[in-house]
Amino acid sequence: MQLIDGKQTAANIKAEIAEIVSARVAQGHRRPHLVAVLVGHDGGSETYVANKAKACEACGFDSTIIRREDDVTEAELLDLIDKLNKDSNVDGFIIQLPLPAHINEQKITEAILPSKDVDGFHPVNVGRQSIGLPCFHSATPAGIVELLKRYNVPTRGKNCVIIGRSNIVGKPLAALMMQKGVDATTTVCHSATENLAEITRKADIIIAALGRPGFVTADMVKEGATVIDVGTTRVPDSSRKSGFRLCGDVDFENVAPKCAFITPVPGGVGPMTIVSLMQNTLRAALGEIY
Ligand code: NAP
Repeated sequence: MQLIDGKQTAANIKAEIAEIVSARVAQGHRRPHLVAVLVGHDGGSETYVANKAKACEACGFDSTIIRREDDVTEAELLDLIDKLNKDSNVDGFIIQLPLPAHINEQKITEAILPSKDVDGFHPVNVGRQSIGLPCFHSATPAGIVELLKRYNVPTRGKNCVIIGRSNIVGKPLAALMMQKGVDATTTVCHSATENLAEITRKADIIIAALGRPGFVTADMVKEGATVIDVGTTRVPDSSRKSGFRLCGDVDFENVAPKCAFITPVPGGVGPMTIVSLMQNTLRAALGEIY
């Protein structure tokens, strides 16, 4: 069994990006600039945004965090997006989700210019991704494919079973896994899937993205499979300073011995999601896509 080290891989990629940035700065270009908009004080969102700012620093990017309170109106947020769309000193920006219930997330997502949508959530980027055109790939799916490539996990002609069909993980991941060059035979499962264990037992690659701690058990996995665990559920844990620990969707202890490759939680997919955002921001700054 080989552990896929997302933390180390992410560090390597950030170092590669930093080299490109420092060469560009030496040529007189400004640094790539990522803006994160954070609404409210959700603990998870605070952590994600802080980690993104840290990653920007490691890559040599400028980063700005814009904070708004929970009671910000949709119109105020749309106005802010309009300003960021027009700001030529901002290469890309993200609106950290989730947003308060009175704000329509889809409307907000669609207000972002596709050329600055470094999260890859805008329907234009999602559509371009699904037909294989240059675009900002959704961060988590792109990070997973990058991990598989860097660990030389065979994907061509292999059975890949994705558990979960969300718009940010399952669906865009399916598009990437089946695209030319990755070439996996891809199945997407969800809460209405019948006989899930029968399907996962045939998988060469299982990607679990449902948000249910320990859901994928050893009896669902064939010998020699690769298991990618996307799940990050906060489970209360009084022994931790934070009061919680992050749990993946895979029963790691019992599944790992059967695997060719497996990702841990934390330290697997999570750091790669942030690195994909950095890659998208660099591509935005280089004007590679739009
Ligand atoms: P989501 O929007 O809640 O979607 C969950 C998906 O899992 C849905 O498609 C749902 O099916 C499916 N599902 C739920 N129970 C199931 C079951 N018993 N059997 C089969 N499928 C089932 O979640 P998400 O946003 O994709 O996130 C999934 C997990 O990944 C969460 O733990 C989240 O925190 C984590 N995550 C991690 C990262 C990272 O960077 N590491 C990034 C994004 C998300 P239906 O569609 O039928 O309801």
